[in-house]
Amino acid sequence: MRLILLAAPGAGKGTQAEKLSEHYEIPTISTGVILRTNIKEETELGKLASQYINDGKLVPDEVMIELMEKRLGEPDCKNGFILDGFPRTIAQAEALDNSDIDIDKVLSIEVPDEKIIARLSGRLECGKCGTTYHKEYRKPQVDGKCDKCGGDLNVREDDKPETVKNRLNTYHQQTEPLLDYYREKGMLRVAEGQEEIADTTAEVLKALED
Ligand code: ADP
Ligand code: ZN
Repeated sequence: MRLILLAAPGAGKGTQAEKLSEHYEIPTISTGVILRTNIKEETELGKLASQYINDGKLVPDEVMIELMEKRLGEPDCKNGFILDGFPRTIAQAEALDNSDIDIDKVLSIEVPDEKIIARLSGRLECGKCGTTYHKEYRKPQVDGKCDKCGGDLNVREDDKPETVKNRLNTYHQQTEPLLDYYREKGMLRVAEGQEEIADTTAEVLKALED
């Protein structure tokens, strides 16, 4: 399975990507995790990306396209992958079309903006492995610590209310057009995000059946 996940920021895309990774036994390639790792390690890419991310803007297409073509060519992607966060613009989708990487399906997880704003305000992220939690909806077993790796949980820099508004605008303007783009190609599947993570996963798996 070569799958693209599309969803507004905070719609639970990363969480569902993890579930799908387990289900299909293929890796999730998350651009957000890659970029934040680079920021933490203060690489050239990280320095460039942070200027955009902290404003809720997108990192330039050329940078993302080069990064992802390289990443998807690595051996762990041979049997399929789940793309969490790429493509995010029509230009990125076209670059993917023109590459030798084939995509089977595109899944959109739909959640209304009001719910997204509520969710992002309580989101926590492991600084070490990138797993996300939520103060109310997905509490870690031990307060402030990652269930998986024991890393410290923090609020993401770009989850501040002002940035969240920009990220939602960016999504509506630049990423939402991808829904029609893939619908026209017959690749789009849609799942409605639910209150409970497991219920969303059920919707997602059902949407991917056909
Ligand atoms: P979310 O989906 O919750 O907004 P991500 O972790 O997927 O968060 O991405 C965080 C930020 O990284 C985005 O707001 C954007 O600035 C940048 N980014 C991630 N993927 C891409 C991409 N494909 N193209 C451009 N920028 C990206
Ligand atoms: Zn962790």
